[in-house]
Formats: sequence, C-alpha cells, structure tokens
Amino acid sequence: MQKCTIEAVDREELTENHFIGLHEVMQDMWASETWLGELAQCNDCGKMLSKENVFWHLSEELIQRKVTNIMQILWIDSVPCAICSSDNTRLIYGPDNIERIKSRILDSVDSFIILCISEKQEIVGFNEGYIDSLDRIFQLDLHDQYKDIGLPEIKQRVEKALGYTPKEILSMSTMGLLRPYRSFQNLFKMIHEYALVLPESRLWMPGIVEYDRGGVTHRMNADVQRGISLGIEDDPILRAKMTNAGETYNWDLIVYPDVVAMQKDFFSKDIRHYFRMLKKQSTSKQIIQ
Ligand SMILES: [Zn+2]
Repeated sequence: MQKCTIEAVDREELTENHFIGLHEVMQDMWASETWLGELAQCNDCGKMLSKENVFWHLSEELIQRKVTNIMQILWIDSVPCAICSSDNTRLIYGPDNIERIKSRILDSVDSFIILCISEKQEIVGFNEGYIDSLDRIFQLDLHDQYKDIGLPEIKQRVEKALGYTPKEILSMSTMGLLRPYRSFQNLFKMIHEYALVLPESRLWMPGIVEYDRGGVTHRMNADVQRGISLGIEDDPILRAKMTNAGETYNWDLIVYPDVVAMQKDFFSKDIRHYFRMLKKQSTSKQIIQ
C-alpha cells in the first residue's frame, strides 16, 4: 500500500493543477472495470471501452497508473477501439471535463473538497460535496441517469422522505481513490476529514447521495441507519427508465434528513469511535424493539 496524505482544501486555494489532478483521478476511476468501465466510446462501432479493454497488453504495474500517465508514456492522444481497431474514439472524460469540475466547485453555494496527495505531490484521490438547490444538483449530478425519470418524481420522493421541501441540499457526489492507495484506513480518513470540514452551522441540512450497492460506502450507510432510500432502483417501472445505466448498474439514491450531524456523530473521531457508535446504535435499536 502506498502512502498518501489526506486533507481538506479550501476552494479558494485550489489552482489549475488541482483541477487537472481531480479530472485525472475521476477519468481513471470511471474508466476501470471495477467501476463503470467507461474510458472511451468508439464512434464507428459504438462499443464502450474500459481501461482494461484498451490497455490489456500492459504490465500490471503500468496499468495501475492513471490513464493520462499511460497515454503520455505510450505517446498517444486518443485510444484505439479494442473491437474494430478504429482510432475514431472519444474519451468519456476528456480534457473538457476540467472546466466542468472547476465550475462545479467554484459556482456552487458551497463546496467541500478533501484531497489525497501522494509522496510525489500528485492528487491520487478525492472526496467532494456541494451545497446547491435540488434543481441544480439534478442537472449536474443526476441528469445522466435520471433524466427520463425526471426532476418532479425525484423532488416528490425527496419531499416525502424529509417531510418538507428543502431550499438547499448537500450533494455528496463522488469519492475516488486510485487503486494503489485503496484501503479501509484511507477511505475512513477521507470520510473523517470530510466530517470535520462540514460546517456546524449546517447541522440539520439534508443530504443526497447515490451509492453503489456493492460498495463499502453503501454498507457503511446501512450500518449508520440514518439514510432513507428513495426507492427508485427498486421500482421496476422507474428502473426501466434509467438512462446510461448498464444491466449490472445497481445503485441506490438516498437522502439523509440531517447529513452534517450524521457525519459528525459517526466520523468526526477515530475508527474505534465509529465502531462504538455502531454498537450503541444496534443496542438502542434492540431496546426499542
Ligand atoms: Zn470500434
């Protein structure tokens, strides 16, 4: 396991290099088959290409590097299609994504960014959160998958779960860590730093997040028992309306009535505190039952 330092960075302190670094980690994360396997799409045969499809011939050591590093080493600026060998492909997250990330961070009502920095001073992971109106969060974070389900349906479910219409909501968006740095300790540290950076003044603010049901963070959500699933993926009619979601896509859109308080309760101290909180939770639940 390689070492990295994990710390919160104020959005005013972010430089162009930070935005590029965030883009590179994001691109790599989605490109890998352990996530969505979306590195590029072939314009000729339409096939979606994963990092492993394109770079299958590389050594284990080399394929663990970021896509941008691999492309620099191979001296290429587009990737070939693994199916039809065409060079006419487009990167799903190309360099234009840098501007998108920048505007997301700088134009939101508030942003919370945790960075994992390697010993070589490169960004190797991040955790992000944004405060915005639900309308804006829908456009920026949910539109790709939920556009045919529509904002009114999501809004109605959020209102039902919370019991009111939130003016602003915290979108917990994405969290990513390159493979050589992936460990439960690092993951926990990222969530811990995030819990510390969320403002006390927003303790009762609601949150929205989409979890991969197979992932560690979804399991942690189930353990803390504070999130409410919107039930979209469990409704066959709505599930059928999801776009850009493959058959194996099994995520869960969840709202938290008090996301900042929840984060601080569970993650503002060390791992032992977290496990003690879980134990307390299951004990109090038994008493209620
Ligand atoms: Zn092709």
